[in-house]
Parts: sequence; structure tokens; C-alpha cells
Amino acid sequence: MQSKKLLDALKGEGLTTNDIDYVFLSHQHPDHILLAGIFEKAKFITFDTNFIYDNDLLVEFDKHMLGRDIEIVETHGHVLEHISLLVDTSKGKVAIAGDTIWWVKGEKQVFDVNQEDHSQSKGMNMKTLIESRKRLIEAADYIIPGHGKMFKVEK
Ligand SMILES: [Zn+2]
Repeated sequence: MQSKKLLDALKGEGLTTNDIDYVFLSHQHPDHILLAGIFEKAKFITFDTNFIYDNDLLVEFDKHMLGRDIEIVETHGHVLEHISLLVDTSKGKVAIAGDTIWWVKGEKQVFDVNQEDHSQSKGMNMKTLIESRKRLIEAADYIIPGHGKMFKVEK
């Protein structure tokens, strides 16, 4: 069960759902949003045109609202609206790419900016997706894909 996996991961960090202030929703696919509701005290950074959902209020956000070392970037293409995070770490810049970059289970993980998007989502635009991928790999040293393992960007 996915909720148990998430709760166990939080517990492993000494956290509960009530310790989480912000939940980042990259896009609307069910595998990326269904567990968001367990974080009852959180504000939700949504893909929906730069708004934070906070107790039934929608408040516009700034790309650095999570701090100077975290940038929210628009990475459309996998779906019409999609956002990712660029995080400055001691090891370099890490992109939390959501489904801008992902592999299906069992697929060999070899990055190619032109790789097919298997989802065939409504609003998917391959040209826009490739532009978003290029922006992420240019900016980041490491990529955390929506599905798959973190990898280093070869420059
Ligand atoms: Zn998706």
C-alpha cells in the first residue's frame, strides 16, 4: 500500500504527516497526487498556474517561496501544466523533475532528451516536453525522475 510506504518513509526520518508544511504537486496524474490529503496541515504548491492551495484559498506564489536555494520551475509538456524543483545542495543542483523525465517499471534507464513519453496524456506536447527536459539538464547536476532512480547529468 502506497500510504504505508510513505508513512514508513516519514517515520524513518522521525516525522509525521503533521510535520509537513508544504506538499509539492508537480502535475495532476493520480500516482502523483492521491496521497496529498494525508498532510492535513500542509499548504499545497500546485501545478495550476502558480498557486498555493491553503485551506480553500488560492494564493499566488513566487518561484523562490520555499527559500533562495529552491526554485520552482515550469516544465510543461508531459501534461499541459507541470512544475519541477531545482534545489541547490552541497553536491550540486538537483532537479526534482516529476514526469518531465521518467521510465516505466522494468524499462532500462538511459536518458535521451527525445525519449518517448509513454503516458500519452491529454495535453501532452512532445516539443514542449523536450524543451522542458533541456532546461532541466542544463540547470541541474542530478535529476530525480518521476519514476526511476536519481542520475547524474553528463555534461
Ligand atoms: Zn504523469
